[in-house]
Amino acid sequence: MTEKQSVDIQRFADIEYNLSVIRERIAKAAELSGRAAGEVTLMAVTKTVEPEYINYAIDCGIDLIGENKVQEYLGKKPYLRECEAHLIGHLQTNKVRQIVGEVSMIQSVDSVRLANEIAKRSLASGITTDILAEINVGGEDSKSGIEWDVAEETVAQLAEIEGIKLRGLMAIPPVCENSDEARMFFSKMRRLFVDIRDKKLDNTDISILSMGMSSDYYEAILEGSTLVRVGSSIFGRRIY
Ligand SMILES: *Cc1c(COP(=O)(O)O)cnc(C)c1O
Repeated sequence: MTEKQSVDIQRFADIEYNLSVIRERIAKAAELSGRAAGEVTLMAVTKTVEPEYINYAIDCGIDLIGENKVQEYLGKKPYLRECEAHLIGHLQTNKVRQIVGEVSMIQSVDSVRLANEIAKRSLASGITTDILAEINVGGEDSKSGIEWDVAEETVAQLAEIEGIKLRGLMAIPPVCENSDEARMFFSKMRRLFVDIRDKKLDNTDISILSMGMSSDYYEAILEGSTLVRVGSSIFGRRIY
């Protein structure tokens, strides 16, 4: 983003085409799961993507973007058109102060400690921050997220914290061999989501089940995802 590179016209065309294909698949999967296409939100994941391409996706109708890193998002934000943004990457407590108020939701809340920090900074700014509880559905050591075995009790604790509002759950299942295996993880998440939603915990407004990425958003929607986070299928392979 320092030296302005020449804009790649072909990439704009690809983004527009990719979005049309993805929207069709979302509509198809939504229909098969007994829902309208409009009941599934498409988030464009914009990590490593330069602002001109993000803005083009916004021109093509994207109204929600997701970024993983606080610094990267704050660096790009002044160059972006008006668009709702969520933080979806692992968040360290020492970065909370910088991100609270800058995004409309933090999807990657994986501990009570982090939630308390977000709440503290939100109250200090006079706002309430919407959050999702990230669940480590595959029990992988390499992934962050709340452990499956303590998911329900941890979520209940998050619900009680003033300064944040629990809106639902997020998960990144393990890389799967086949779509049946992926669907098993999504279905497990869906059951947890319904259990938690039906508890009608005070101070919560649980309606979002964020799961599904480029390789598996179709399966995720079949199993009840309400928000898919798609990056490389829109913008092309990421170059770090
Ligand atoms: C990068 C990322 C995505 C999107 O991944 P793609 O495979 O490029 O679609 C979704 N969710 C999270 C949390 C990510 O870090």
